[in-house]
Amino acid sequence: MLLTDSHLRQMQSLRISVTDRCNLRCFYCIPREDIEWLPRNHLLDFDEIERLARLFVSAGIRKIRLTGGEPLLRRDLPHLVERLGKISGLEDLALTTNGTQLVALAEPLAKAGLKRVNISLDSLRSETFFQMTRRDLHQQVLDGIVAAESAGLLPIRLNVVLIRGLNEVEMLDFARFARARAYQVRFIEFMPLEHGERWGKDVLVPGHEVRAKIDAVFPLVPEADPDPHSPSRNWVFRDGAPGQIGFIDSVTQPFCSACNRIRLTADGKLRTCLFSLQEHDLLAQMRKGASDEELLDFMQRVVLTKEKKHGISDGLYVKPKRTMSAIGG
Ligand code: SAM
Repeated sequence: MLLTDSHLRQMQSLRISVTDRCNLRCFYCIPREDIEWLPRNHLLDFDEIERLARLFVSAGIRKIRLTGGEPLLRRDLPHLVERLGKISGLEDLALTTNGTQLVALAEPLAKAGLKRVNISLDSLRSETFFQMTRRDLHQQVLDGIVAAESAGLLPIRLNVVLIRGLNEVEMLDFARFARARAYQVRFIEFMPLEHGERWGKDVLVPGHEVRAKIDAVFPLVPEADPDPHSPSRNWVFRDGAPGQIGFIDSVTQPFCSACNRIRLTADGKLRTCLFSLQEHDLLAQMRKGASDEELLDFMQRVVLTKEKKHGISDGLYVKPKRTMSAIGG
């Protein structure tokens, strides 16, 4: 049995959020301080995550990415990584983190079998980092990146959300950083998924603009053999310098027709799109005693309802209640 939607897209990639908690307050994600986190017993426990992951893999999922909130705040995460890494048929297990805990956790995660990490870093300048995240943890993230490199979690991939009038001026600095350290830098367009009301065309920096500006200084050529399902369009440096620049242009160049992703929130809700207005309670099914067959049947029926596209640019868009941090970015 495979998880195929009504537009004949077969699901192969699953993002699992392991916590909604985060220790940063990025203004474009969770700017508030008065957040009510999910109670512990509402979270999927490791046995439940492993059971669901096995079922998803049996239904064709090949890639799992752990995310959050901040996934490294979930106690014993390396233990979960070790358990998921043993699932036969799973080809890729990855992790997205803000990097603040990597000094302590990079080595244990690598020992548990993790191969690489994506680290979110919106600024190379500590003042701008503070302005964007409301936390004074810039050096901790930079040290975390080095720790990940030393632990062999390679290649290092950095996620950057550029905001007009804020960190937009750093695009070339990030390109230099990628070249100097052989890192992959991915610029993600700001999406309307925040608690606040800051999103708008005036603050969105379109990927094509960033690419043109970097290309003018460091000429770029498309990577060889791109993955057709990757949301990122990647480029390498024409002069042969190491590093890579990628663009996730979710707003200006949606890639919905090739989307093979589904998401599981920390409280066990299945989401068929980052921008879904509906969630489907897998945890409730499981805690009611559903058998594996019943859970697989539920997953299959949910996937059939996957949205054709997100509609951000066609005026039909309705902002979901939960932000990236609560959904699992
Ligand atoms: N805490 C982890 C981290 O920082 O990578 C994982 C969760 S975080 C929500 C995942 C990614 O989503 C981060 O790279 C963050 O910058 C991005 N993100 C959050 N809100 C966003 C938005 N409104 N538009 C674009 N990217 C967003």
